[in-house]
Formats: sequence, C-alpha cells, structure tokens
Amino acid sequence: MLKEHRKCIFCGKILPKSDMLRIARLKNKNVIIDYDKKGAGRGCYICFSCIYSCNFKNKGVIAKSLKTNIDIKIYNEIERYIKSLSIKGQGGEH
Ligand SMILES: [Zn+2]
Repeated sequence: MLKEHRKCIFCGKILPKSDMLRIARLKNKNVIIDYDKKGAGRGCYICFSCIYSCNFKNKGVIAKSLKTNIDIKIYNEIERYIKSLSIKGQGGEH
C-alpha cells in the first residue's frame, strides 16, 4: 500500500500524511488547521514530533511557508489539538 508522503517544513523529514498536521492558508487569507487534509488552499505539513517538541512555535517558519502572518490563535489551536491527541493516546493503559 502506497501512502502519500509529505515533507515536514521544520525537520525536513519525509513522512506519511497520517503522521503530520496540515496547516493551510485559504483564499480569503484565513489560516486554518486542515484536520481532514482535504487540501484546501496553500498548505504546509508539520510532523507530530516537531509539534510535540514545540518546534512549530519557531516564529516565521509556518508564516514563511504559507507566505502570510500566523495568528497566535493558530499556535494555541495546534497545542490544544496535540494535547487532545496525547490524552486519547493514554487511554486504557492502566
Ligand atoms: Zn518535523
């Protein structure tokens, strides 16, 4: 089975899209987290390890990739999303 792979804008690793988060800039210049990876607008990919290590907050990398300013709200939303994932991941371990 061939999965679609993308390059992380932070570490440069090539990984399956399922191991990455897509950030997209829409035509109206809104920046969104493209959870479904439907491919709306101009997008960039960040791997989960860069998100967990908080590299994604390095200012300018996402902005440069999407050629737009990134609101702090987006960083907060990414953080919330990754926290919700790690909470789910801990389920049933005890
Ligand atoms: Zn990465």
